[in-house]
Amino acid sequence: MNQDMMPTGVNLGIDGPSLLADIAETAAFGGTAKGGICRLALGAEDRQVRDWLGTQAAALGGVLTVDSMGNQFIHLPGSDPALPPLVMGSHLDTQPTGGKYDGIYGVLAGLSALRALQRSGYRMRHPVELVNWTNEEGSRFAPAMMSSGVFTGAFTQAQAYGTQDARGTTFGQALEEIGYRGAEPCGQHPVRAYFELHIEQGPILKKEGITIGAVTGVQAMRWFDLRLSGQEAHAGTTPRAMRRDALLAAAHVMIMIDEIAQSYGADTRATVGVIQVQPGSTNVVPGEVQMSLDLRHPDDDVIAAVEERIRTEAARQAEQQGVTLSMKRIWDSPAVHFDPDCVEMVRRAASLTGQSYRDIVSGAGHDAAHMGHICPTAMIFIPCRDGLSHNEAEHAEAGDIVAGANVLLHAIMAADAHFDPA
Ligand SMILES: [Zn+2]
Repeated sequence: MNQDMMPTGVNLGIDGPSLLADIAETAAFGGTAKGGICRLALGAEDRQVRDWLGTQAAALGGVLTVDSMGNQFIHLPGSDPALPPLVMGSHLDTQPTGGKYDGIYGVLAGLSALRALQRSGYRMRHPVELVNWTNEEGSRFAPAMMSSGVFTGAFTQAQAYGTQDARGTTFGQALEEIGYRGAEPCGQHPVRAYFELHIEQGPILKKEGITIGAVTGVQAMRWFDLRLSGQEAHAGTTPRAMRRDALLAAAHVMIMIDEIAQSYGADTRATVGVIQVQPGSTNVVPGEVQMSLDLRHPDDDVIAAVEERIRTEAARQAEQQGVTLSMKRIWDSPAVHFDPDCVEMVRRAASLTGQSYRDIVSGAGHDAAHMGHICPTAMIFIPCRDGLSHNEAEHAEAGDIVAGANVLLHAIMAADAHFDPA
């Protein structure tokens, strides 16, 4: 990273009160009695907030493009029309009992950054854009991060259009109904680099009293289905030595999984969240157990090593208990590593604006995880109260909200200096 990343215009800042007012104003579109938001993708409230964003784009003098997945892009020109845009963004849809910040914050902060650039007269060389990704939550139409996924080629538009909600309405129909099926083919939009600002949705920043997380990537995740088969037997008459107790074996396996996970350090997450026992009777030695395992780690090699150890040890535990074991991997999502230069821009922007910061790995998925596959990408986190998210009580402090938006602004300015040097 060289000095040319240091932007001029150090004194530029976003308008904090207007950002906070935007968050309050848009929270009315789908606002709930408990102070949260229910704004499912492509519903009436989603259309309202999209229309609102379009109005803001026009007021700003920006050019609005809607693509064939309904993704909205607001474009401000740079001084060099040949350069592709630097893009900021997130999503405006929510969970059914969502909060006022998840996704929304990243879009509205990006809007405040566009306004700050426009107002100051500071001219970037690259065009700068804001994107609102359609259906990040995946709550009405699965999967999550759908439109950034189509944008980056993770799935096809035909797959997305055919997806049905619980009432049998397809994504394609819903998109038509709210009038947001745009002319530009999804994925054709040029992006030089992508920055996404988000609440952490976890407890780390809050606990450590740090304002900015420079997100280095998204951790790897693997799901497993484990089945242990022993033999059902009378609880009163069967001696210990003759038992093949599947639940007792499962208990040993669970303890062992936790010990192995701990031995690989604090970044390892292993969770058994579901356990089903057959036949489930007080006086019968359990014959069958089915259990889930959710395994996470920021590093693909480490998660592979943890899986290998668990397989070996679980087989040994099962054998000792006289039961058979099958362990099937049913989902594998590799780690995402954000662009080291973009992550450094976030650290420097935090330092430049006088904020405390640390590196952090995202435990949750985001549109940025898809974007990281096609362009230099980074994310910025701010703390949220109790690490609570996907909840109407989700809360972020005004000071952190404004600080994060200023870091976004300065990261994008640093990107302007860094990419495509003149
Ligand atoms: Zn989100």
